Amino acid sequence: MHEVKGGCLCGSIRYESADHPALIAACHCTHCQKQSGGAFSVNLVMPLAGVKLTGSTLATFNDVGGSGMPVKRHFCSSCGSPIFSELDAMPGVAAVKAGTLDDPAWASPQVNLWCQSALPWVPMAEGSAQFDQNPPA
Ligand SMILES: [Zn+2]
Ligand SMILES: [Zn+2]
Repeated sequence: MHEVKGGCLCGSIRYESADHPALIAACHCTHCQKQSGGAFSVNLVMPLAGVKLTGSTLATFNDVGGSGMPVKRHFCSSCGSPIFSELDAMPGVAAVKAGTLDDPAWASPQVNLWCQSALPWVPMAEGSAQFDQNPPA
């Protein structure tokens, strides 16, 4: 079984959850590009209540998503790693950043979101669902 267990670069923040991700989504929005410093972020869509966090360096950037709704981007204030986001558009959900898993190899994205700002050199898995913005509700 794949473990949802990970932490930030400096090791100050650790998290784990016994839940399985409801969805694994690559987000190509410009804010995820900025925050990750990469081409996209990979998010495990998880029940927020099941995510157990330890560490005292979690900080929050209050962002506004492409939907126009608030997004709280939680990150480690010591090393800067993004850890998870909370979206007002999806209450009770934590979007955990898959790159912070101890073993991210299994976290292959099932869907690609915000493809309208995807970088032209990013390959997407054949057969994966692709949406210009968020998927229709
Ligand atoms: Zn850290
Ligand atoms: Zn995004």
